[in-house]
Amino acid sequence: MSNTPATLFDKVWDSHVVRKIADGPDVLFIDRHFIHEVTSPVAFLGLESRKLKVMFPEKTFATADHNTPTINQHLPVQDPLSANQLKALEVNAAKYGISHWGLGNPKNGIVHVVGPENGITLPGMTIVCGDSHTSTHGAFGAIAFGIGTSEVEMVLSSQCIMQPKPKKMRISVDGVLGKGITPKDVVLFIISRLTAAGATGYFVEFAGEVFGNMSMEGRMTVCNMSIEMGARGGMIAPDETTFNYIKGREKAPAGAAWDKALAYWKTLKTEEGAVFDKEYRFAAADIEPMITYGTNPGMGIGITKNIPLADAAGGSKSTYEKSLDYMGFHENEAMLGKKVDYVFIGSCTNGRIEDFRAFASIVKNRKKAEGVTAWIVPGSHIVEQQIKEEGILDILTAAGFQLRQPGCSACLAMNDDKIPAGKYAVSTSNRNFEGRQGPGARTMLASPLVAAAAAVTGVVTDPRTLLVD
Ligand code: SF4
Repeated sequence: MSNTPATLFDKVWDSHVVRKIADGPDVLFIDRHFIHEVTSPVAFLGLESRKLKVMFPEKTFATADHNTPTINQHLPVQDPLSANQLKALEVNAAKYGISHWGLGNPKNGIVHVVGPENGITLPGMTIVCGDSHTSTHGAFGAIAFGIGTSEVEMVLSSQCIMQPKPKKMRISVDGVLGKGITPKDVVLFIISRLTAAGATGYFVEFAGEVFGNMSMEGRMTVCNMSIEMGARGGMIAPDETTFNYIKGREKAPAGAAWDKALAYWKTLKTEEGAVFDKEYRFAAADIEPMITYGTNPGMGIGITKNIPLADAAGGSKSTYEKSLDYMGFHENEAMLGKKVDYVFIGSCTNGRIEDFRAFASIVKNRKKAEGVTAWIVPGSHIVEQQIKEEGILDILTAAGFQLRQPGCSACLAMNDDKIPAGKYAVSTSNRNFEGRQGPGARTMLASPLVAAAAAVTGVVTDPRTLLVD
């Protein structure tokens, strides 16, 4: 056994290698495979044509989220493609004996929300799903990453995947976050510093005081967006916050199995002296509420700053100009005061209870701004229920907002919730690419607090000016 200090990433990766291919990828055993209606139908067709079975149905979990409407979920889905995909998921899950939380099921919700909240996601696991933001589950000290349709078929049939081992990066943020600064701001700040490609080829461990003090919801937001700087995934060492979050959840271990699991989970940390291929260190004091002004998540600035000049932004000047042109913005303009047409709070980035608490903290005793359309979309039915039980729904209703039903909603233009061309949306989701929220839609990524401030003022507003002590 080697005496070299190991990283958290190495510990989890190495314990899942079932075979090493000389000069090739490793074959990794997968503990959890989440599937949804968009990337699974073709994979199941592949299984059928090759007469293969699902190797471990009990390690596979299906939920409907990408194509689902967020109103009137009791009615038949109107879009024929969506309806077909949802039906295919239901039929395939039943045929292969896979747990399926479809539309109307009280456990239904976005795949990266329902996995953790039901205790399916656990520390030290390998987790995959045919969705890039599978990285979310890394918040529990798991190695979690998105896979393509052919890989979904590979995992269904073999419970393994071939993966080259990524390099290791550690990003530490020291100090204490200021008032009104959320996990979303932390991760948008990091991406703005590293750029949207700055962690390409790496798996990232987030470390330091800021992440240690963060809730599990916040850690999920951060790991969710780790891929937006090009990383294969992100992870955070499990600690008491993690264990407290998991304990008692439906599918979490209990009794003697809990004690055994806990003893193992406590070993899942990077050892003193372990070496990373790259390290970054930032100070919490440098982070303010963030907002993006361009068409990739690396184009973000502090909300009080002006849009950078092309020369200062780095990269290709023509790409930069094209991006600003799409957004209808110009160099050196202030972001504060820009008109907002739509506000979206939800998605696997910011669709958890803590996000709605933050949103409600600003809209309480205020009114929705004239002309703003707000889509308030819980990440799951369990979150929806919490919103009701905690009185958040009453606050939203009094302020003129409506709560929708769970789903991916405006995160991607694959269901009815599309931002119209040319309109400006402050969105708590994870991608601001051209057309991501609808053809021609203009997305500004931000935290739930920034979204709430925009929703009650109708313009980009520093949420710190609206926070009540
Ligand atoms: S909310 Fe967006 S990123 Fe998350 S699972 Fe749905 S489509 Fe993917």
